[in-house]
Amino acid sequence: GETHFGFQTVSEAEKGEKVYQVFESVAKKYDVMNDSMSLGIHRLWKDILLHQMNPYPGTQLLDVAGGTGDIAFRFINYIRSQRERQVQQKLRSHQNLSWQEILKSYQEGEQKSLGGSHVVVCDINKEMLTVGKQKACHLGYSEGLSWVVGNAEELPFNDDKFDIYTIAFGIRNVTLIDQALKEAYRVLKPGGRFLCLEFSQVNNPLISRIYDLYSFQIIPVLGEIIAGDWKSYQYLVESIRRFPAQEEFKEMIEDTGFLKVEYRNVSSGIVAIHSGFKL
Ligand code: SAM
Repeated sequence: GETHFGFQTVSEAEKGEKVYQVFESVAKKYDVMNDSMSLGIHRLWKDILLHQMNPYPGTQLLDVAGGTGDIAFRFINYIRSQRERQVQQKLRSHQNLSWQEILKSYQEGEQKSLGGSHVVVCDINKEMLTVGKQKACHLGYSEGLSWVVGNAEELPFNDDKFDIYTIAFGIRNVTLIDQALKEAYRVLKPGGRFLCLEFSQVNNPLISRIYDLYSFQIIPVLGEIIAGDWKSYQYLVESIRRFPAQEEFKEMIEDTGFLKVEYRNVSSGIVAIHSGFKL
């Protein structure tokens, strides 16, 4: 069949295969492409996701389709700054601390301890994880971080294990979205939170026209110039258009059993952040 955007639709088996090839071929250039395609705005969107997550020291996070680690690194930075703030507050609230205690608090802050927080980056593509690991090494992240090859539809983790599950620009690539949502529910602890950052439906007519023009005319060209890969970036645009709109996706999350499901549009709905709780 053909979608109204003129793209050929692919079967489910073909989709999984195609997604793998796309990310295998772009892994090394993935970060450069992300910055150039989104004009750097994906960084802001990811920061907003972290702000909404607002994790506390001790949080166990699973970042599915985590690719080259953008969410994981932000998580670690966020926790570190939370810890520093805690130490500063402690110092301020106990003005009559002994110098030993002050020194101890100071050292805790210096060590930037994560307070037991941990993030698992899980991705189906080992090439993406390899690039992520290199980045982690280069940027000096080692504590509280691990990398696991795995499929969102069949996560290699026990039940009730994580406080937060995130998936950023990943779920639209998954073949069986329902199955991935079920798995998210399964691995979360009771009280745990599901957070999804994904391209969505633009709600402003003018932005929508500019966005269409940009997506269909410019992105494949940039893909060709930067990565020598027109097809992968045509696939990218195509997959964004096929993904369910805000309300429909919200219902899918609710159907999985999540409660208090809500979403927030960012950049006129170019992306949306969906949230839900396992209770
Ligand atoms: N979350 C990262 C970010 O925001 O930069 C990477 C997003 S990238 C657009 C999509 C990722 O989803 C790729 O790394 C791809 O390998 C991964 N992926 C696709 N299908 C998957 C699946 N079924 N299970 C796990 N990961 C998958």
